[in-house]
Amino acid sequence: MTYDKVTVPDDGEPVEVVNEEEDEFVVPDKPIIPILHGDGIGTDVGPAAQKVLGAAAEATGRDIAWMRVYAGESARERYGENLPDDTVNAIREFRIAIKGPLTTPVGAGFRSLNVALRKKLDTYANVRPTYHLDGVPSPVSNPEQMDMVTFRENTEDVYAGIEWEEGTDEVEQVKEFVENEMGFDSTIHDGPVGIGVKPITEFGTKRLVRQAIDYALEHDRDSVTLVHKGNIMKFTEGQFRDWGYEVAEEEYGDEVITEDTLWEERDGEQPDDAVVVNDRIADNMLQQILTRTDNYDVIATMNLNGDYLSDACGAQIGGLGIAPGANFGNSLCLAEPVHGSAPKYAGQDKVNPTALILSGVLMFEYMGWDDAATLVRDAVEKTISTKQVTYDLHRQIEGGEKLATSEYADAIVENIESLA
Ligand code: NAP
Repeated sequence: MTYDKVTVPDDGEPVEVVNEEEDEFVVPDKPIIPILHGDGIGTDVGPAAQKVLGAAAEATGRDIAWMRVYAGESARERYGENLPDDTVNAIREFRIAIKGPLTTPVGAGFRSLNVALRKKLDTYANVRPTYHLDGVPSPVSNPEQMDMVTFRENTEDVYAGIEWEEGTDEVEQVKEFVENEMGFDSTIHDGPVGIGVKPITEFGTKRLVRQAIDYALEHDRDSVTLVHKGNIMKFTEGQFRDWGYEVAEEEYGDEVITEDTLWEERDGEQPDDAVVVNDRIADNMLQQILTRTDNYDVIATMNLNGDYLSDACGAQIGGLGIAPGANFGNSLCLAEPVHGSAPKYAGQDKVNPTALILSGVLMFEYMGWDDAATLVRDAVEKTISTKQVTYDLHRQIEGGEKLATSEYADAIVENIESLA
């Protein structure tokens, strides 16, 4: 692969893919990892995370050859476009990458760079773990009960971008088709209308649910919950539920049982070695994460539900400054925090880089660098529990020491060195 305006580090090696479909690859001791700092506060949290993750790699006898790539504002300056081929090609070639947030200006003529990137890379599962770190303030009484991982389908649903603006010929054509050809006469109110389409496919659903079940099995989790509004949207969200159960029943044998089987055949008693697949309606689920937090483990859901649900879970464990995430495709990982570019804090060396750092933990786990992942998580926890925190946590912790983004990263690096 040749690149126009970025340089491939000559002191690192690429990740070698052995079987793309089966997620089999070999990570060298000094992999080339593309890193995109991102817009807004990306310029603060990007370098902080790079420093911490690099320190953890070194402390565990490895190294990282970082390859800076660009999107959003930094790409417009260099390339005159938002999402250059260099960036997409680098992530595709080197397979494992990390990014900060990208701004999506409202009404700027493009949908979302994040959505575009996920579609181009076909990273179809957005994975958001929510677990509580000791010392992090929370609005709930028992935040330690939250230990969930949300698998959010990343390429379909109302986020697929199939929609028509009010006042256009296209929207009128679609309205006429829906009313006259499809028999939904008098269903859409008269007057200006915007219309969107919600595709949920068997292919998209099953590959997402497989990833969630595989994760649950590999990480010794008890359950996978399919979250949907299938009672209302029967042929999209209801079908997601049905295809989800089909995967569980047809592809996993005794390793997975459904909740119905659990009650019908076992009187509710879960076998030690099987994952239970159940389903919950989305609105119920949003209250269950507060009232029965520790009943839930791994969640598999569609794009919009997943977006809402994972933010709500994130709030319970300390908010956006903490919540990590990653997008996964076949033998491809693009780690990114849940939060956005928070433009009002950009360049102030103020915000919390923990979310991006913990996204790096997910990336390390995917690479098989579990020792480095644990080291980072422990060092972050140690830093926060000694009340060395950024502004967002400082305002909630009595007697804490308020650190700048870069100072906080240095404190974590010191703890990495002392824990290693
Ligand atoms: P946001 O950037 O996530 O910021 C919302 C608020 O969350 C901030 O004002 C701040 O709250 C808190 N926050 C976010 N990140 C934080 C951090 N690292 N440390 C401490 N506090 C943090 O959401 P937004 O303002 O709605 O979106 C801004 C832009 O980001 C938009 O263009 C949006 O499209 C984009 N976005 C991008 C992504 C992505 O790249 N994946 C994701 C979401 C949004 P306080 O002011 O209360 O302290």
